[in-house]
Amino acid sequence: MTVEHNWAGNLRYRAATVEHPASLDAVRAAIARGGEVRVLGTRHSFNDIADTDGTLLALDSMPRVIEVNEAQDAVRVSGGVPYGELALILERQKLALASLASLPHISVAGAVATGTHGSGDAIGSLSSAVRALTIITATGDARRFARGEPEFDGAVINLGALGVAVDVTLDVEPTYEVAQHVYEHPRWDAIVSDLDAVTAAGTNVSIFSTWQRTDAADQIWVKQRLPDERAAHRAELAERLGASAAEGPRHPILGVDPQATSAQGGTPGPWHQRLPHFQLEFTPSAGAEIQSEYLVPRADAPAAIEAVRGLADRIAPVLHVSEMRTVRRDDLWLSSSFGADTVGLHFTWKRDEPAVRAVLPALEAALPQSARPHWGKVYTLDAAEVRARYPRWSDFTALRESVDPERRFVNDYLRRLGV
Ligand SMILES: Cc1cc2nc3c(=O)[nH]c(=O)nc-3n(C[C@H](O)[C@H](O)[C@H](O)COP(=O)(O)OP(=O)(O)OC[C@H]3O[C@@H](n4cnc5c(N)ncnc54)[C@H](O)[C@@H]3O)c2cc1C
Repeated sequence: MTVEHNWAGNLRYRAATVEHPASLDAVRAAIARGGEVRVLGTRHSFNDIADTDGTLLALDSMPRVIEVNEAQDAVRVSGGVPYGELALILERQKLALASLASLPHISVAGAVATGTHGSGDAIGSLSSAVRALTIITATGDARRFARGEPEFDGAVINLGALGVAVDVTLDVEPTYEVAQHVYEHPRWDAIVSDLDAVTAAGTNVSIFSTWQRTDAADQIWVKQRLPDERAAHRAELAERLGASAAEGPRHPILGVDPQATSAQGGTPGPWHQRLPHFQLEFTPSAGAEIQSEYLVPRADAPAAIEAVRGLADRIAPVLHVSEMRTVRRDDLWLSSSFGADTVGLHFTWKRDEPAVRAVLPALEAALPQSARPHWGKVYTLDAAEVRARYPRWSDFTALRESVDPERRFVNDYLRRLGV
């Protein structure tokens, strides 16, 4: 893996040294050499959360462990393994994860560290599937955090601040099939007034909009676990929204070649081929892009949508596409869904970071004050504002202080936040 820049290409890593340890001893030796250390996942974050002036540890040469427990309800996986690779091995054992992000190429530890999520009213973030994790701390000790223990809820979404997550244990369940359906041009007014019915139209629902029009969104993608008991609800809902079923495969951006997207049109397929929007074999890009995302409690979602609609003429010129998804609440201290079921408002921007950063302050000011930015995406919100939106913030900084008192894993990103 080349580690000159992040996946999106909007960030060149500054690290003086990049190491690819091939064993736990090598991880410990790299930490023992001193200086600031950060771990790199698959480089999919859009900001400098993974960067450092010191040593960057890429885990791509570490031995791969993917081990299902005897009860067949959990898998222990090395932190650097991408979800796509894990999914194929689980599927061979007739097992599945409850959720995946929009692409399968991201590493388990990197996704979990930033609260990465997929969608679903009843489905928590990828971090909420974590049962336990083992972190090599600044002293070289292995600290295991397991669900139910007092500090576990603080250690899962850790922003890379506690050390090197070398293995993560995730909940798994029996495999299942999913069918994906796409609807075009649902009316925004109907979506806002009937949001609960819209997000309940399937197991996982995404609303896409380019904000070229403010009267209608572009598409709704519905992923439904089989057997499908919601077909009648969807047909009736589509009519209420003034939406029609797409007549062929679609990319999230209307007009872009849908070749890379996961199968649509209601064709059943295994979970790992339907939950991501993009297939494992393809690079999921509409071209150069960067991303931002804000999650608000469901009660604030109508106000958040109206806020974005009101800025459509400023947003649309810089945007590839927006996506709205729901995430079930959890108790993880740094989770954007801490304490409330949420709606995520996501923006895939054109890769013009100055132009994006010029729009973000207006967007952030217009969104409800409950909006929590995605840790791995671009945001401009003031650190004090960010902290104020996390009731357990000071518990997290106390945990960081107890695990890494010399701040060996604290980088500029975390210093700006006051971690
Ligand atoms: C095309 C695209 C689509 C995306 N889709 C979604 C989506 O659907 N939903 C969503 O929520 N997000 C999405 N994201 C954002 C992405 O999931 C997050 O940025 C995620 O953190 C990336 O994981 P990574 O492995 O690339 O981690 P990196 O970006 O490499 O690192 C992220 C953080 O994790 C830390 N880290 C990584 N590995 C370890 C480890 N082993 N131990 C300790 N710390 C570690 C790093 O230090 C850093 O702080 C998307 C990003 C892209 C580029």
